[in-house]
Amino acid sequence: MKAIIKYFSDVLGGMYTLWQGMSITGKHFVRAPKEIITQEYPDNRDTLKMMDRYRGQVIMPHNENNEHRCTGCQACEMACPNGSIEIVWKRDIDERTGKKKKMIDKHIYHLSMCTMCNLCILACPTDAIEMGKDFEYAVYDRSELTKVLNKPGSRLVEQL
Ligand code: SF4
Ligand code: SF4
Repeated sequence: MKAIIKYFSDVLGGMYTLWQGMSITGKHFVRAPKEIITQEYPDNRDTLKMMDRYRGQVIMPHNENNEHRCTGCQACEMACPNGSIEIVWKRDIDERTGKKKKMIDKHIYHLSMCTMCNLCILACPTDAIEMGKDFEYAVYDRSELTKVLNKPGSRLVEQL
């Protein structure tokens, strides 16, 4: 007798929890939220905007004069816990002052090793790098995941 009672109470309990779940689903189905957050990717590639807190790959913004803010100080390289950044620097004549100074040659970034931890961004004293918002990183050749962040022919902005 006990087993029969337990059987029916389990069935009733199951039906109750099923009704609870379906009632929540039904409410959302009938009263859809004003802001639909489901993204129809990849159809929305042109309009898709990633949220501000999203961390994509490390990028180095350049202004319209092909100038960046990287002094080659190596703070980001030292802050990176897994060696994803390599700074190659040189001592060269600064054409604005005519004096020799340390400057960046190549800011090398290994996306394949990067964990998007943000530590390099926090370490940079001149805000030269930031986390980009793009997210499609698939490539056929792994070497394409190693990038030089300072563009060819670019230089340090005058204020720095
Ligand atoms: S985000 Fe983190 S892992 Fe990636 S390069 Fe910066 S410090 Fe290194
Ligand atoms: S990106 Fe910033 S921290 Fe890294 S070398 Fe350039 S100035 Fe220094």
